[in-house]
Amino acid sequence: MQAGNELYKKSMLKEGSLAGKVAIITGGATGLGKAMAMEFARLGANIVIASRNKENLMKAEEEISKLGTEVLSIQTDVRRPDQVNRMVSTTVDRFGEINILVNNAAGNFRVKSMEMSVNAWNAVINIVLNGTFYCSQAVGKQMAKQGNGGSILNIGSVHAWTGSPLTAHSAAAKAGVLALTKSLAVEWAPHHIRTNMIAPGPIADTGAVTQLWPTPEDAALILNNIPAQRFGHLQEIANLASFLVSDYASYVSGACYVVDGAGWLNKGKYQLEDQ
Ligand code: NAP
Repeated sequence: MQAGNELYKKSMLKEGSLAGKVAIITGGATGLGKAMAMEFARLGANIVIASRNKENLMKAEEEISKLGTEVLSIQTDVRRPDQVNRMVSTTVDRFGEINILVNNAAGNFRVKSMEMSVNAWNAVINIVLNGTFYCSQAVGKQMAKQGNGGSILNIGSVHAWTGSPLTAHSAAAKAGVLALTKSLAVEWAPHHIRTNMIAPGPIADTGAVTQLWPTPEDAALILNNIPAQRFGHLQEIANLASFLVSDYASYVSGACYVVDGAGWLNKGKYQLEDQ
């Protein structure tokens, strides 16, 4: 799976593929969210990034703006329906409509399930599952009102199927997001709204990887179970996301794409030492 020319690190769609679109990306100031925002901007979309940390938002806004389209950052906590509604109305005031929503914001941390507090459980469920629903509903209503449809992309995880010891809260929330993706794909098809999901494996240079597997030993253990023998690259997720939210994918809805170098199928049976 190691492309000789490392094509996977390069942009896939041609410039202008998202021209004229307005895209909201939650958690768009860091990690995967920022990579997707940068790629959508390069393809011509106007960008809204929404998360809590103002400093990160300002830095990302400045960086993405250099790509030439308009960028707006809106301080938003996706756990708060009032703030989500404000995110939608501020976007519509500025750009007139919304065509794309990426539900990327998430929180996650390792904790033994027997010792997990109610607050810890709720913190993750509220961001990942409830936040995804609040944003989807608020943006979905706007898209239905516009009448020209739209595309919603949820960033999930393979843990939606496999579960995940020590991050059971996140796995349960992501499983809910997968069910939501499929439910809305059917329910909102009459409004020409498509909903899809990407389930990434570990992606290099991201918060998730450094928080969940902080030591080189942790990272080596994870890497050893990935048949592709490498972590994913940010651009690989940005490329697939760009395709899924674009009109090239107008017949794709209710789908979930796993991008993990076959890691989720491995189940620990295959180790590099076995070769
Ligand atoms: P990250 O850099 O930590 O990004 C998470 C983003 O979510 C941050 O920008 C954060 O900003 C935002 N966020 C957290 N709580 C929020 C809230 N209540 N309201 C609004 N925004 C909030 O992590 P990442 O690694 O790029 O992950 C991005 C997505 O990919 C997540 O859905 C994650 O589950 C998924 N994923 C990642 C990997 C990986 O290897 N990186 C693997 C599988 C799945 P603030 O804190 O400023 O709000």
